[in-house]
Amino acid sequence: MSDLKHEIERRRTFAIISHPDAGKTTLTEKFLLYGGAIALAGSVKGKKTAKHAVSDWMEIEKQRGISVTSSVMQFNYEGFCINILDTPGHQDFSEDTYRTLMAADSAVMVIDASKGVENQTRKLFKVCLLRDIPIFTFINKMDREARDPFELMEEIENELGIQTYPVNWPIGCGREFKGVYDRNKKEIISFTANGGQREVEKVELNINDDRLEQLIGKDKRQILVDDIELLDGASYDFDMDAVRHGKLSPVFFGSALTNFGVEPFLEDFLKMTTSPLPRHSDQGEIDPFDPAFSAFVFKIQANMNKAHRDRIAFMRICSGKFEKGMEVTHIQGGGKKIKLSQPQQLMAQDREIIDQAYAGDIIGVFDPGIFSIGDTLCAPGKKFQFEGIPTFAPEHFARVSQKDTLKRKQFVKGTTQIAQEGAIQMFQEPNKGMEEVIVGVVGALQFDVLEYRLNNEYNVEIRMESLPFQYIRWIENKEIDLKSLNLSSDTKIVQDFKGNYLLLFTDIWNIKWAVERNPDLVLSEFGRE
Ligand code: GDP
Repeated sequence: MSDLKHEIERRRTFAIISHPDAGKTTLTEKFLLYGGAIALAGSVKGKKTAKHAVSDWMEIEKQRGISVTSSVMQFNYEGFCINILDTPGHQDFSEDTYRTLMAADSAVMVIDASKGVENQTRKLFKVCLLRDIPIFTFINKMDREARDPFELMEEIENELGIQTYPVNWPIGCGREFKGVYDRNKKEIISFTANGGQREVEKVELNINDDRLEQLIGKDKRQILVDDIELLDGASYDFDMDAVRHGKLSPVFFGSALTNFGVEPFLEDFLKMTTSPLPRHSDQGEIDPFDPAFSAFVFKIQANMNKAHRDRIAFMRICSGKFEKGMEVTHIQGGGKKIKLSQPQQLMAQDREIIDQAYAGDIIGVFDPGIFSIGDTLCAPGKKFQFEGIPTFAPEHFARVSQKDTLKRKQFVKGTTQIAQEGAIQMFQEPNKGMEEVIVGVVGALQFDVLEYRLNNEYNVEIRMESLPFQYIRWIENKEIDLKSLNLSSDTKIVQDFKGNYLLLFTDIWNIKWAVERNPDLVLSEFGRE
């Protein structure tokens, strides 16, 4: 097998999605531990140590230079080369969180067993559905009181609209947690709490083994036998094709903190998930094994230090091999040839300059301000464009204007540039000038970032008035007569800077109102280019 084929085939690039506190950091850390990328649990720098006052956040950005420490982590495990894409949560939640999912080939969804499907998981899940990528579910914290596993399955199916296939099944929970039954291997893996540093001791027993009763007790054994019977009869069959197309989610129960079920999960996951997938372009699908390099930009990280207004553009390699100093064509840059300088990659916590990378990998390159989100880079001679990255619906809105009207130019320049980087979205009310814009953000922290950056980088002070809108929808049918729309009084029509019209809503009922009373109106939650 050629070197290129072998390297690409062993790559697995996935994102971990969850609601804050479900255990994403802990699970990631355990993966890294198995991969030998870190030596001790507790060493993945968590946001837990970071206070979220904005000044602290800026400080953190400065100290880290760029906040890539938690963006992408690469490590090797049993011959696989694994790229984990972190999806920042808490106050770091922003459009970048969604965009990251565009770079992944599959997703691991971590769910807290006592809480079930939570808000942020729901949002991230919707984005995964856009691309039909495989989704694997890890139901975490089984060492604590948990909800009934059947109920959890039902919730995932009903709330997220995906079928589930439990690969293993829990025996009790909390203090009574005894382990899991592996439905494929048809054996019990028993649980012994061990502080979480290394692997658990496994006791593998057949469900019919007499020793099972001693291990988990008569009652639990009976419950398990009944549960499995019910599952075998009632749950969906395992169908790899459905898994690969994001229609069926394999579900695993475990406890990341105590290390229980993490390694079996990782192993099964690596077997079931795919190597880098082909990507859509305006010239058809691009095969990852095509030796000609191609990539697209999915995230741009501005440097918070005003002395260095450079940026890092993160790109996902979609085909072929990247080599340091390579010349590529920047399609959206008018087909210009550029050298990708200072390519960086991450091994757990360390950033390092790399010499080569393959399809599936993520690299960060120095960006003198030429890239935009969604841009394609190809090997010289190639001229195709990857499908664009959608614009995701902001959830917080504010009216923003400059305090000093003489600084109009700086204000327009600053807000426009920050919007180009993809940190905020800007809207205008029809018939209003640029002195005042409506800014929409996915995570509220972006407002503080905007204020800080306008002040520090562009020397503009702003006034911000928060607006009561929570939802935005793009009007898909451009020919519709806006004046004739029947909308509730607190629904607002705005325009983005590409000229698209959108509706701002204060609550879900107003969306319903708009949809029901305007049968011709077509609304979308995602903006396409
Ligand atoms: P994240 O916000 O999703 O990254 O969550 P973390 O990994 O930081 O975990 C949140 C909290 O839950 C931390 O205090 C963890 O120690 C704890 N935690 C994570 N996994 C488990 C688990 O399996 N069992 C228990 N009991 N606690 C856990």
